[in-house]
Amino acid sequence: MNDVLVGRSLTKRFGRTVALDGVDIAVRTAEAVAIMGPSGSGKSTLLHCLAGVTGPDSGEVHLLGRRVDTMRERARSALRRTRFGFVFQFGQLLPELPAEENVALPLMLGGVPRRQAVRQAREWFGPLGLAGMETRRPGELSGGQAQRVAIARALVTEPAVVFADEPTGALDQTTGHETMRLLTEATRHNGACLIVVTHDPGVAAWCDRTVEVRDGRLLTGGMAA
Ligand code: ADP
Repeated sequence: MNDVLVGRSLTKRFGRTVALDGVDIAVRTAEAVAIMGPSGSGKSTLLHCLAGVTGPDSGEVHLLGRRVDTMRERARSALRRTRFGFVFQFGQLLPELPAEENVALPLMLGGVPRRQAVRQAREWFGPLGLAGMETRRPGELSGGQAQRVAIARALVTEPAVVFADEPTGALDQTTGHETMRLLTEATRHNGACLIVVTHDPGVAAWCDRTVEVRDGRLLTGGMAA
């Protein structure tokens, strides 16, 4: 099947806390999946295991048929930089860099020369409604604009998967909707899949399906219909 990212029988404990209790999940090409559940249910831990940030105690993670969870940290870190994009709740842009350099950063970290990286980065500004904002610093952008810069930064390496953790959590409802529209459209347009952790049903509604997490288990939706 055209599964891009697969987690099988994932478990993770922190001391006596069972954060993941046997999770099976598969995400397909260009699919957007929302991960929902109450605070402490294991959403972030699941995201971190799938993104190779944390190793599960048992189970497996595969990206495009390649096993991720057993890779050494160096290889996993390279994978995160090249094949995964990340959007966080508070953009986490570097305040001293202009927007275009914030977007170019993942390319430069991967060895692309600065000029070329910035040229590639600029191509994202028009489609994301950011034309003219290229040289602004994050402090000179609205919350919604900063989040769109963060979306460009997540997509500039043409990743296979974009992970977003409460990407609209710091925005008002209208701006949040616009941000989700751009995030889902841009990832789909680039053939990437999107995994969004959220507690907001309005955010989840932008995704193709919703996975409900309770006490480290999935109630519904781990596999595509
Ligand atoms: P959610 O993202 O749904 O709020 P988390 O995945 O952050 O849930 O947490 C799941 C459970 O694991 C919670 O009980 C949390 O307290 C615990 N947990 C998560 N990370 C750690 C950690 N680094 N150390 C100890 N406990 C943790």
